[in-house]
Amino acid sequence: MTNEHNPDWSRRTLAAQAMGHIDEASRAVVLPIHVATTFIRDPDNAYSTGNIYGRPDNLTVREAEGIIAALEGAAEAMVLGSGMSAATAVFLALRPGDHVIAPEVMYWGLRHWLLHEATEWGLRIDLVDTSDVAAVKAALRPGETKLVWLETPSNPMWSITDIAAVAAVAHAAGARVAVDSTCATPVLTRPLELGADVVMHSATKYLNGHSDVIAGALATRNKDAFWARIRRNRGILGQILAPLEAYMLIRGMRTLHLRVKAACDNAMELALRLSNHQAISHVLYPGLPEHPGHDVAKRQMQGGFGGMLSIRLRGGEAAAIACAAKVKLWKRATSLGGVESLIEHRGSIEGAGSPCPLDLLRLSAGIEDTEDLYRDLAAALAE
Ligand code: PLP
Repeated sequence: MTNEHNPDWSRRTLAAQAMGHIDEASRAVVLPIHVATTFIRDPDNAYSTGNIYGRPDNLTVREAEGIIAALEGAAEAMVLGSGMSAATAVFLALRPGDHVIAPEVMYWGLRHWLLHEATEWGLRIDLVDTSDVAAVKAALRPGETKLVWLETPSNPMWSITDIAAVAAVAHAAGARVAVDSTCATPVLTRPLELGADVVMHSATKYLNGHSDVIAGALATRNKDAFWARIRRNRGILGQILAPLEAYMLIRGMRTLHLRVKAACDNAMELALRLSNHQAISHVLYPGLPEHPGHDVAKRQMQGGFGGMLSIRLRGGEAAAIACAAKVKLWKRATSLGGVESLIEHRGSIEGAGSPCPLDLLRLSAGIEDTEDLYRDLAAALAE
């Protein structure tokens, strides 16, 4: 593989050309997928290529990681078998007794794991409204709090956390900051530049973008001992992404910027139009001036406010479920960040203990025609 990458290229260019890497043997513009699980040792007993075994590392995975590191402005990135394996790898690199602050409203699967499993490993978890920097500051225990976990915009209410402000108070108390930036994507927000230490993505969503790969990513500001522990654990536990999936992720990321822009445009237009719909009591979208996090989002997100929005229906839970049942173009399914638009009654999946209101429908705007998307939703809301 040769690197024909010009240091002046923008992130969009680097992603579109998968770093501009060319296969040396064939001069192919797309790199081969490396599936080997083991490699020949040199006669002098060394491994001069650095390739030893497929569980800790893989060449195709490294290509995907190089792109994510470039997109996030990171010292290094790691890809793992799912967003949850990426997120939990960060928490499992802490020590028993460490105190952690996480958002009250966040991706429910991780919230549930933190409250019911991470505590079994000795982590002490406090859930806080992280959109309120003073609340984060009050919850920090200097010397004991080792990690502040953020998600912004956060599922499924799309509240916004000021990453720079939280990083300042967290660092002053000696805590690291990690950000689940799945819904912001590196196109709109780069948390490391705002002071975060680690960024996490469910690469299943926007990074891959085609609803056909489950993957996770981490990116770090410093290759420090904490990062080394995460990497060591990935190698030992076998949490690495498989090479075929890594290749598909690379292919998906080539169009990341185009897809994110189309999704943002659709979400903004839909949020504006739905705000005037009589069946809807609230539209939750950080692009709307009345959204409580709008000013921070304007500063922190460049080029759009994301493709995710939620609506709350005046008719309550039954009306929300009925609307999701009637749409034809929107796909009634969980997940987000794909090219196809998805609609979901979140309360049904999050279950008891979730802070998600039961009248809420979560919308993942895809890249389809805006008029088609609006007409389909409006028809389902009108019936
Ligand atoms: N973080 C966010 C914001 C998510 O939406 C999800 C998945 O829905 C995850 C993390 C978990 O990712 P995965 O499903 O790839 O494990």
